[in-house]
This record gives sequence, C-alpha cells and structure tokens, in this order.
Amino acid sequence: MSPPLSVDEALARILDGVAPTAVEFALVEAAHRRTLGEPLAALLTQPPFDASAMDGYAVRAGDVVRPPTTLAVIGTAAAGHPFAGSVAAGQAVRIFTGAPLPAGADAILIQENTVPEPAESGPARVRVREGRPDPGHVRRKGFDFRTGEVLLSAGRRLGPRELSLAAAMGHGKLPVRRRPRVAILSTGDELRLPGSSPGPGQIIASNHLGVAALAEAAGAQSRFIGIARDTHESLEEHFALADGADVIVTIGGASVGDHDLVGPMLRARGMVLSFWKINMRPGMPLMFGRLGASCVLGLPGNPVSSLVCARVFLVPLLRALLGEPAHDAHPLTARLGVALEPNGPRQHYMRATTAPGSDGLSVVTPVRSQDSSLLAPLAQADCLLMRPPHAAAALLGDHVPILPLDF
Ligand code: AMP
Ligand code: MG
Repeated sequence: MSPPLSVDEALARILDGVAPTAVEFALVEAAHRRTLGEPLAALLTQPPFDASAMDGYAVRAGDVVRPPTTLAVIGTAAAGHPFAGSVAAGQAVRIFTGAPLPAGADAILIQENTVPEPAESGPARVRVREGRPDPGHVRRKGFDFRTGEVLLSAGRRLGPRELSLAAAMGHGKLPVRRRPRVAILSTGDELRLPGSSPGPGQIIASNHLGVAALAEAAGAQSRFIGIARDTHESLEEHFALADGADVIVTIGGASVGDHDLVGPMLRARGMVLSFWKINMRPGMPLMFGRLGASCVLGLPGNPVSSLVCARVFLVPLLRALLGEPAHDAHPLTARLGVALEPNGPRQHYMRATTAPGSDGLSVVTPVRSQDSSLLAPLAQADCLLMRPPHAAAALLGDHVPILPLDF
C-alpha cells in the first residue's frame, strides 16, 4: 500500500482543476459576504465635484492674503444645496461640509478663522482674521476615484468596506460567484438528531452543524441531507438527495471497519477516488474523489477530526470554487507558551489557544487534551498549532505556524 499523502499534496489534489462557479448578479444591498466574479470599475467619479471638507466660507484665495479683511456674504451652499451663483472679488459664500465649491471660489476659510459682522442693512459681511486657507479643506473632484478606475479585483470577498466602495462607485448590482452548494451527510447507526434524547448506545450527531457553519462562513450554501444508517440502502437513499451539489461532504463511515460503507458505496456509484488516507493528525482517514461534476470529501467521524479537516481542506476548496485565493492570505505565527516534544511522523494540527504575551505579541499554548473525540477542548481553542512530520522538539518562545479556527 502506498504511504499516506502529505497534507500539502492532498490539498494540491483537491484544488487541482477546480473551476469557479458561474457569475450571477446580486443587489448591492444583498451582496454582503459574496465574492466578486469580475473586476469592478467605477461608474462614477468621487467626489463628483470640488467639495468643501469644512464648515466656513468659500472665498477667492487672493482676497484673503492680507487679513484682517472683510468680505460680502452673498449666499449659502450646503450639502445637497449648491450655490447657483458665482463668487466675485471681495465676496464669500457661507459653506458647509459636503457642499460643492461655488464657481469663482477656490479656497475654504474655516469658520474658526472668521467673525460674522452683523449688517444693519444690505448684504451680510464676514471679517477674516486669519487668511491662509488650507488646500486640504477642499476635496477635489475625483480625489477618491474616477470613472473607469478598477478598484476591486475579481475574487475579492465583499465585506463592509468593499460594499461601501462598490455602492459609491455607482453599482446597484454586483457580479458575484454563485455560492457553492455543499450537501452534508452524517452517517452512523448510533447518531440521533440534535435536540433529541439519545437511547442506549446512541449519541447526538453534532459534526454536520459545525461543518455547515464553517462552509457558510466560507461563502457556501449548505444543505444537510440527514443521517444515513450504516446500510447500503440507507446510504444510497440519502445520497440521492445530494444531487446538484458542488461538494458532497460525508461524515463518518469512511475508515476501514465493517460498518464503514461510504467509500465502497461511492466507488460503486462511479466516484473517481483521489485519496483515502493522509499523513495528518487528527484526521488520517480523509477521503476525496470526484463523482460527476461534484467533489466528494469524506470527513472522519470523530468530531475534532471532522472540523479540523473541514477547516484545512473544505475551506480552501470552497474558496477555489468562489474564485478566491485558496490559502489563508496571511500565514500567522505565534510564540510557544510551552516547550513541545518532538513530533511523530504525521503532520499534527494541535488545538491551541492564543493570548497576548507581555510585549503584546501572540503566545500559543496547546489545550489540555489533543484527543480527537473531544469537543470541549476544541471549543476552548481558537487556532491550530501546526507541526510538520518529525518536527524536532520546540522550545518555549519558538515561533510556530498557526491556523486560526475562525476566519
Ligand atoms: P466513524 O468514522 O463513523 O467510525 O466515526 C468515528 C467516531 O465519530 C464514532 O465515535 C462516531 O460515533 C463519531 N461520529 C461519527 N459521526 C458523527 C457525527 N456526525 N457527530 C458526532 N459524532 C460522530
Ligand atoms: Mg460510523
């Protein structure tokens, strides 16, 4: 038998040849957390006109070089209410933040540098105490961006900043990738639905919820297709519900025990198996293959293994389907809060917590137990501390790579 695949090789095989989903349009109001399918160019120029950045007076800079001086106030410009006329020598327009700079004016005097002079009759006047207008008080037309400028690239996830920008750029609809469809199947005679009371020998099926949440956080649409019993008939029946999925995720039943029927059943249905074992801890019995247009990822049943494998393999696969960079954008490191023994032959993803050290930089410490059936320590952890196969003993303070569990 061939040796188990390395994590990197397994990931490369999973990502090999994955094509992004089709581009569809989403209303900008409904596009939060979607992924851009095409580069986005500005339809508008921002600001669309020279605008005042301050409350004060729009003036001609040449009029105020030698203060004190007094100007006639000929009108008002407020945001949404431009002044229609033109400012001539010796004149000023009362102006507020966001208003267009009136024709003829080329500078803003902030109101703190002026004193209004009450006029008994005739136009109001303003006395200028300090005459050096700051060029920063005018936001020039196009200061932010101009029509046609490409400001967001394809593959960009739309968060709060991207959405505000896209809307300001003039877009009402955005070209986004169809959310990958993920069908999730739990398998096992012992499993009961969450919220039910387990009978003798039974436990609650919990993994599919975590895997679904992870898939949704990565941008997918998840569908739970139930709990299959450990029989060919039940597996077949449930599998029919996975039709149309981009990714079919099975949980459990994929090792080599007598009750582990998932692999043989999928192969009988025509799945082209890519691998069935990887050199990783937790999660050695991970299966991956392709069945028609669907990817099939067989996660181990142990709760920690299934969530860790979903984080390490499913999330990059979903990112690739969304046309996003598959790998985490910023590989993180932290300093060890404890010394570690040499690692064994398998790449180890230790459940760990990070906390700020005395200098504020992250210190990472493995949680109390690394047993792959324990959910409580997994919930306590906020990252996976990665140790390559056969890593030498590590010292307190050594820098080690970590993968955040939340992203
Ligand atoms: P298996 O891979 O089917 O041999 O399952 C390994 C272990 O994980 C067994 O103890 C199962 O009871 C448990 N398990 C399998 N599927 C789930 C699930 N969906 N939720 C929680 N535990 C599970
Ligand atoms: Mg099982």
